[in-house]
Amino acid sequence: VDKNSQRLTIAIQKSGRLSKESIALLQACGFKFSLHEARLLAHSSNQPVDLLRVRDDDIPGLVMDGVVDLGLVGENVLEEVRLERQALNLACSVQRLRALDFGQCRLSIAVPKEEGYRGVQDLEGKRIATTYPYLLQNYLKQQGVNASNAILTGSVEVAPRAGLADAVCDLVSTGATLEANGLVEKEVIFRSQAQLIQRPEPLSAAKQAIIDQLLPRIDGVQMARESKYIMLHAPVSQLEQVVELLPGAERPTILPLSHTEELVAVHVVSTEKLFWETMEQLKAIGCSSILVMPIEKMMG
Ligand code: ATP
Ligand code: MG
Repeated sequence: VDKNSQRLTIAIQKSGRLSKESIALLQACGFKFSLHEARLLAHSSNQPVDLLRVRDDDIPGLVMDGVVDLGLVGENVLEEVRLERQALNLACSVQRLRALDFGQCRLSIAVPKEEGYRGVQDLEGKRIATTYPYLLQNYLKQQGVNASNAILTGSVEVAPRAGLADAVCDLVSTGATLEANGLVEKEVIFRSQAQLIQRPEPLSAAKQAIIDQLLPRIDGVQMARESKYIMLHAPVSQLEQVVELLPGAERPTILPLSHTEELVAVHVVSTEKLFWETMEQLKAIGCSSILVMPIEKMMG
């Protein structure tokens, strides 16, 4: 990567749980990329932007060192690398630009289900297998517990059965992996989602201009994902209740319907999920033709 390039470089995970959504987000923001499986670098065909596709562990360091301009990475990895680099006296500052609406997971301590566990003090003197030694020790220190790390880069969940550790500290989303290995989640030590981060030093005006355009687009994409366009026919007599039932609805549009005085069409953008229960309640107070539609893009 040429540090003086006028092209904005964005590091994303090459293949893993963040890859698809990272690319989808950038595409939804209007960047066009043609990705070749084998290539590390992908140029955008419609913007001076390059994607660098790497392992997620490398993303925070590349941004902190200013090798790339932006990165999309899980907060868990960001915080682990930050603590590690801080301990090693390496550059460890970044600008956090946005929390992104994907990559949700938690880092938790789990113990074998046959072990009695009363609280975090029971970890005293134990060995805990993890891929996140800094986040783990940071947590244990806050709790005043001394336990040692068994650092593994994978298969953390089998460590207790293999006799390598007494407990694990691993990422959890549903808990199915833990359960399959006879482990029970006991302490959530960190909650994470994907983040958009930027290198600490100011960027050239040209690069900054791209970011200034990108951020409102990210907000627009994320807001649109959470929002729905709702259309329905409502009895005029029930209008107030209808608007009250619609979650997060701003001022609705009320339109007359032909051949009736009792019913009107109501159109609203709702900023929250609309549940079946709400639709059933709307129906119960006389609404009909209730349509809930996805919104592709939004701008305030
Ligand atoms: P790499 O080869 O890039 O190092 P990895 O195996 O370390 O990949 P993945 O398992 O692909 O990483 O997870 C990448 C990130 O996705 C995690 O660090 C976390 O932030 C997030 N993540 C983890 N589990 C989930 C999940 N179940 N659902 C969504 N996101 C998750
Ligand atoms: Mg990784």
